[in-house]
Amino acid sequence: MQVKDVICPFCGCLCDDIEVTIENGKITDVARGCAISRELFLNHDKDLVKPMVDGKEVSLEEAIEEAATILSRSQHPLIYGLSSTTCEAQREAIELAEIIGGNIDSTSSVCHGPTTLAFQMVGEVTCTLGEVKNRADLLLFWGCNPAEAHIRHLTRYSASAKGLFTPRGRRDRTIVVVDVRRTRTARMADIFLQIRPNSDYACLQALRAILKGGKLSADEVGGIPVEALVDLVERMKSCRYGVLLFGMGLTMSRGKHLNVSAALSLVRDLNRFTKFAVIPMRGHFNVTGADAILTWETGYPYAINFSRGYPQYGPGEFTSVDLLARKEVDAALIIASDPVANFPRRAASYLSEIPTIILDPKRNKTTEIAKVVIPTAAAGISAEGTAYRMDGVPLRLKKVLDSPYPSDEEVLGELINACLSKL
Ligand code: SF4
Repeated sequence: MQVKDVICPFCGCLCDDIEVTIENGKITDVARGCAISRELFLNHDKDLVKPMVDGKEVSLEEAIEEAATILSRSQHPLIYGLSSTTCEAQREAIELAEIIGGNIDSTSSVCHGPTTLAFQMVGEVTCTLGEVKNRADLLLFWGCNPAEAHIRHLTRYSASAKGLFTPRGRRDRTIVVVDVRRTRTARMADIFLQIRPNSDYACLQALRAILKGGKLSADEVGGIPVEALVDLVERMKSCRYGVLLFGMGLTMSRGKHLNVSAALSLVRDLNRFTKFAVIPMRGHFNVTGADAILTWETGYPYAINFSRGYPQYGPGEFTSVDLLARKEVDAALIIASDPVANFPRRAASYLSEIPTIILDPKRNKTTEIAKVVIPTAAAGISAEGTAYRMDGVPLRLKKVLDSPYPSDEEVLGELINACLSKL
């Protein structure tokens, strides 16, 4: 059997043209997806976990019951992850956080959290990836490397995509890359500006100053000659439709949300001359959804604390890495994420000192240390639901295979009922 128009649940591109072949309940072929997507679908049944408590296999009901006992007894629980599951599961996780008076935080806090802070400061002149494909004749990639991290972005939406007003694809676009090293994306650019590490803010403000008619007294800014900055400003001003796409090279270097607010301000300023938009290059397939759902439900995008019965916002205070490093939580529920592999050592190791519960279809570093492991159906393969593409467009994930386990949404619903009966 062939299933068409499947959405790839891996990165923020959410490519929705994948064709999956299923034989005898197994995915045997994947067409159109990139190498990562093929691996994701073809290995969907490898390294699966079983329900476990303290390293012993138990029934799913026993694992859920143990998790509910831990969460209902906890004084300061943390719910973390959310970016690789559906919006419906994210909504259930927020309800659970409110019921147990816990903290809730997504992987945004270690990737594009500063982006959301900057959106709140400056606002966002944005567009869809469809507009990038059909209209953009100048692309400025800043601190991101889609050739390796969002593999089909360049062919499907941006650099070489053929669109309505860009029929010749790559030949109809100028591509500029600003980065600290010559990445694969930089190697295919028309212009590569190698910036000194942690100079993004200075360079962006220099571009704004030049755009406003200022003359710089320095010869270079952040390692980039002023003539190159002036040239870039002229190109940006005179393009028909420009788009700035930025990644963690901007959000996680010195300045963080101030870098992003400078980038957003530059794009806003450019709209006095031409049409210019900005899109963050989001990593996990539904991290944009996590920001959106948390904001709808609580007013805040991440780092939220419900201990007073209402949501309080505290980046740096209620962000997971900070809470764990300061040992301020006494239990953790991880949803579709692997913080032990990704967090700084101090925060990661504290997860093994407290009762940690994980919802995930597959084995990872966090399932190895978790007290309770609850297997779930993989979102976008064995569970349907909604996910937001990096440009904020919601898409419906398909279920292409059955799973013996319920979805994240269903398990979280059961946890809510079990916790309510214990509180
Ligand atoms: S670019 Fe991302 S969403 Fe598209 S097929 Fe590759 S991994 Fe999947």
